[in-house]
Amino acid sequence: MKKICSVVGARPQFIKLAVVSRVLRKELQEILIHTGQHFDANMSDVFFEEMDIPRPDYNLGISGGTHGQMTGKMLMELEKVFLQEQPDLVLLFGDTNSTMAAALAAVKLHIPICHVEAGNRFGTLESPEEVNRTVTDHVSAINLPCTESSLRFLEREGLGDTATVVGDPMYDAFCYYSSRLDGSELQEITDLQGAPVQVPETFYYMTCHRQENTDCDETLRHIFDAMQALDAPTVYPVHPRNRERALRLTADGRYDRLILTQPVGYQTSISLVNHAKKIVTDSGGVQREAFFAAKPCVTVLDFVVWPETMVNGCNQLARPEKEDILEKLNRPVQFDPDYQPFGDGHSAEKIVAKIRKFLE
Ligand code: UDP
Repeated sequence: MKKICSVVGARPQFIKLAVVSRVLRKELQEILIHTGQHFDANMSDVFFEEMDIPRPDYNLGISGGTHGQMTGKMLMELEKVFLQEQPDLVLLFGDTNSTMAAALAAVKLHIPICHVEAGNRFGTLESPEEVNRTVTDHVSAINLPCTESSLRFLEREGLGDTATVVGDPMYDAFCYYSSRLDGSELQEITDLQGAPVQVPETFYYMTCHRQENTDCDETLRHIFDAMQALDAPTVYPVHPRNRERALRLTADGRYDRLILTQPVGYQTSISLVNHAKKIVTDSGGVQREAFFAAKPCVTVLDFVVWPETMVNGCNQLARPEKEDILEKLNRPVQFDPDYQPFGDGHSAEKIVAKIRKFLE
C-alpha cells in the first residue's frame, strides 16, 4: 500500500484533514504529522476529538517564535520524519508555516507534494500566508485549488498543468458536520475566565485574529468600536494570539456588547455561523462558512481571498474602521441558492482520486 505523510499544524488544517483523511485511509496508508503550531486544547485537541481525526503518529511540538524560527525548526524536524518514513507523497493543506516548511523539506528530498487549497492569491507578499501558499504551489506536483478563480491564478503563474479544481473540503466539512448539530453546541461556550456564556437570541459572530488587524491597539479598537455600535451583542471567540490585547482593551467595560469567549470547537463555530444575524471576520474559513450558511458577512481585510463569496454583497471587504464596517454591515445582500461555486460537498473523494491516479 502506498504511504502518504499528511502534515498539519493549525486549526483550519485539522478541519480539512478530518474530511480528507476519512476517505484517504480507505485505500492508502496515512502517517499523520502534527507540527505543534497550534497546541492549546481548544485550538487543537478539541478538533481531533470532535471530528474523529486519528491520533497523530508524530507530534513535533514546534510553536511560537518568529516566522523564520518556527519555519526553520519545522523544516529540520520534518526532514527527519520524511527520511525515516520514506513516503510516496506528502499531503499539505492551506497556507500556514507548517505547510511551507513541509513543502520545502519534501521537495528537497524529491518527494512529490499534493497541495490542497492551492492557488489563492491576495496579490501581496506582505501577507505571511501569501508567502506560504505561493512557495508551496510552486514546489507541488499536484495543486488542488478549491475554485475556478484559484485555478486561474495558478495558470497565470505557469502552474496550470499541475492543477485541478476539486471543490472545497471546508464545504465538505460544513455539510457533514452541520447535519449533526442540534443547537446544544452553543451551551458549551465559556468566557475567558472559564465561566459559561449565555448566547443571546440575536447576535453577531466575529472572529478576528490576523496579524494585520490585531498587532496594534488602535486597529483592534476600531473594530471593537464598530461591534459596540451594533443593534445586538457580538460573540467573539478570541484566538490565543490576540488574548492579551483583547482583554486589556475591554478591561474598562466600555465594550459591554462584546462577549469575549475562549476559542470554540468546530461544531460550535459552525453553529454560531448558522445562528448569527451577520458575521464579521478576517478568517478565510469563516467567510466561506458564512457564505455556505447564506449569512451576510463583512471581511475586515484589504484583500479579496475568496472572490466567489463576494457576489451580490454576500461578503464585503471593509477597512478596520468603525464607519466602514458599519456601512458594509448595513448594505442589502442577496443570496442565490443555485450559485454554489465551492463544489458538491465531495471534494475529499476527488482529492483522494487525484492522489491515487498520480501514484499509479
Ligand atoms: N473556528 C473554530 N473555533 C473558533 C473560531 C473559528 O472552530 O473559535 C473555525 C471556523 O469555523 C473555521 C476555521 O476555524 O472553520 C477557521 O480557522 P482560522 O480562522 O483559524 O483560519 P483561516 O480560515 O483564516 O485560515
